[in-house]
Amino acid sequence: YSSEEITRQYLDAIAARDGQYNSFITVTPELAIAQAQAADNARARGESSLLGGVPIAHKDIFCTDGIRTSCASKMLDNFIAPYNATVVEKMAAAGAVTLGKTNLDEFAMGSSNETSFYGPVRNPWNRDCVPGGSSGGSAAAVAAGLAPAATGTDTGGSIRQPAALCGLTGLKPTYGRVSRYGMIAFASSLDQGGPMARTAEDCAILLQTMAGFDERDSTSMDVAIPDYRAALDTDMRGQKIGIPKEYFSAGLDPAIGDAVHAALAEYQKMGAELVDISLPHTELAVPCYYVIAPAEASTNLSRFDGVRYGYRCENPSDLDDLYTRSRAEGFGDEVKRRILVGTYALSAGFYDAYYRKAQQIRRLIKQDFTDAFQQVDIIAGPTTPNPAFGLGEKVSDPVTMYLEDIYTIAINLAGLPALSLPVGLCDGKPAGLQLIGRDFDEARLLAAAHQYQ
Ligand code: GLN
Repeated sequence: YSSEEITRQYLDAIAARDGQYNSFITVTPELAIAQAQAADNARARGESSLLGGVPIAHKDIFCTDGIRTSCASKMLDNFIAPYNATVVEKMAAAGAVTLGKTNLDEFAMGSSNETSFYGPVRNPWNRDCVPGGSSGGSAAAVAAGLAPAATGTDTGGSIRQPAALCGLTGLKPTYGRVSRYGMIAFASSLDQGGPMARTAEDCAILLQTMAGFDERDSTSMDVAIPDYRAALDTDMRGQKIGIPKEYFSAGLDPAIGDAVHAALAEYQKMGAELVDISLPHTELAVPCYYVIAPAEASTNLSRFDGVRYGYRCENPSDLDDLYTRSRAEGFGDEVKRRILVGTYALSAGFYDAYYRKAQQIRRLIKQDFTDAFQQVDIIAGPTTPNPAFGLGEKVSDPVTMYLEDIYTIAINLAGLPALSLPVGLCDGKPAGLQLIGRDFDEARLLAAAHQYQ
């Protein structure tokens, strides 16, 4: 098949079936066909690249030149980005074909894809359930066969949790591995882009192109990039896998626990050694994150003021009214909640009690991992405490929703790489195993997932 034929098949599938899932906000057929034809021509000239001609979807948080980049917010419903994010640019340069932009929680704040201005996404395994979030559109699109792979972003679990709930493999790279340039900022010290696909091998191919130093991102790291695909053959013999006791606590659905234990037994058969470990500050991760992430969000989102870009209210009476009403009308409830919490935590009288305290706790959480990685090569546990839950089930209770990320959030606070891989079904819904690695040790995680798959 030519890339053009394959691309047309995916575009037809999206047109025919995405009404059931709502996984795309914007589909880009003209761009896709042009890129597919260019890839076919490159192949005819004898140029080859692994991603050449492969259709992918981008989470609608990555800026795409000339294409609406909404972040699933009314605030950016009319925003046409004037440039490409580095990730988008690199994918295009490698010959990948952009099918469109996928749905997400508004400004990536959420765990269920229910806060999108464009409506919720449905889980292809069970359409009454959420796909997870915030990269729920990317996850649903791949799980439904509407795209072979997609990009996502992960600030507290947003690649791994939807990957787990939709039966996919998703990788959050080490902070600094993938450029954040052109990725609309939520919490800048936590945000990281990464791949979502069916297999670890596909993720390895995508990461190879996404990774790398970028002078336009001041936190990008200039660290050698291994050949991720070549490293997939590394077997599990002699590797030590740490099992943190805190990740199997009371809130874990027993069916998920069983699926995770069964997968760990497989790793043992493959020659890995399972080691009981402790990450003592685990229970502080969610409260720590819900100070730091909103604090950073409150400053990042101050740029949406109705003046420079995005939504502007009708007939403002003066500048103050312009700011106030544009933001009041342009942002949804969850985004406003985060801005309020973050502004409070950063305000002069409370800074020491909240923000500084959270930074100190963050240090302790990082130290837990540093200590554990003296003893083990990988840390493993469930990705989520439960399988996909019902649409509407948790929307009215933010704290329950925040606990969805109880096993994923500490990893962002520590800046470490982690992936989720599917390890069977609970009542017909996918369960995810999370593998956490040392800084810049993505290759080991991808290999470990590949060995299982
Ligand atoms: N669910 C978490 C939150 O709501 C994480 C989201 C993310 O990783 N973008 O903040």
